[in-house]
Amino acid sequence: MQGSKMILCGHCGNRAIVHLRAEGTKNGEVPDYSGKYDGQTIIYWRILECASCGEPTLEQTRVEYYIESNTPFLAEVVPESYGQTTLLYPRDKPPLTNLPKTIEKRYIDTLGSKDVSPSAFAVLAGKTLEAVCNYPRVAQRDNSKQATLRKSVDKRGESL
Ligand SMILES: [Zn+2]
Repeated sequence: MQGSKMILCGHCGNRAIVHLRAEGTKNGEVPDYSGKYDGQTIIYWRILECASCGEPTLEQTRVEYYIESNTPFLAEVVPESYGQTTLLYPRDKPPLTNLPKTIEKRYIDTLGSKDVSPSAFAVLAGKTLEAVCNYPRVAQRDNSKQATLRKSVDKRGESL
């Protein structure tokens, strides 16, 4: 891998450049180019530092090496199969499940605006909370708490 690349950072949520800080393999294995092994599998681990937030990401790639023989006399060990790179840390945050449809739609819209515009994100977050407050079961439960929450949301909206 090159020294840096672009990923979607699991810490700050930005599409950001990450710099390679360390690389190793499981059990410290290295590719054997002697031609003794066909189908050697090596697991590579890489630690990447996000240029935006400075937090570390750990990713894993599985590479299989096979002997490629062009003639009976010429055999070369080559990395044949680059497996998909998987993210070991940070793990994806589990999405909220079983939300009422009206709340879920606004929540997803809010998350989608996170990288686009901070003010749009704040407005949509407010609309999501409004949908929570207006949801029938919440609205029936406690009107004073709902009013307090609504005032709090309104104040935050004004300060942006
Ligand atoms: Zn980051």
